[in-house]
Amino acid sequence: MPLNSPRLSLAERLYLPEIVRGVRVTTGHFVRNLVLHTLHLFGIAKDRKAAVTTQYPEERKVYPEGYRGAHRLTIKPDGSVRCTACYLCATACPAKCIYIEAGEHPDPQVEKFPLRYEIDTLQCIYCGMCVEACPCDAIRMDTYVHPRIHGYRREDFVETKQVLMERSHVLATRGRDALMDDLQSDYRHAETLAAGGR
Ligand code: SF4
Ligand code: SF4
Repeated sequence: MPLNSPRLSLAERLYLPEIVRGVRVTTGHFVRNLVLHTLHLFGIAKDRKAAVTTQYPEERKVYPEGYRGAHRLTIKPDGSVRCTACYLCATACPAKCIYIEAGEHPDPQVEKFPLRYEIDTLQCIYCGMCVEACPCDAIRMDTYVHPRIHGYRREDFVETKQVLMERSHVLATRGRDALMDDLQSDYRHAETLAAGGR
């Protein structure tokens, strides 16, 4: 047995008692919530809280101030990308999910810019290291939008430079709620298309 492996009792090693214990806990919560919700319907035991599932996407949660949501690439006043394709974010990324292809900038004052900048959001762990690593505030996660939730192909979850820049544009012109509105409307549109295709 390796030195650091936890010592399991015989009951734990047999698995079955642990499975029964897990089912007992889950059933206990289910029955408790069912009873409390039923009592609340009749105005009884209102002071005792029962678990509630957020009815997303109809209902939205208010995200805490420190929430690190979807990424965005910041833009300069002239609308061009602020990123200088220095690769520091890609180097710092523990999930290795940032792909950058650098190009020569037409302006001699600017050395490089990203011809391609992509984040594979299926690999991303939303740690924020890319934001910390960036020396010119070119990437942020202050959008209050959670990651994309729908798609049928892996490519649907790869966010391109255009998508990441558009978020900054929407944020500046229509505000944070608009980002979530757009995400939900895309989701509903995809759902309608999928339903029509069945
Ligand atoms: S949030 Fe973390 S995992 Fe995601 S792209 Fe940035 S550094 Fe990589
Ligand atoms: S986002 Fe920032 S760290 Fe990443 S390549 Fe662009 S300038 Fe460099």
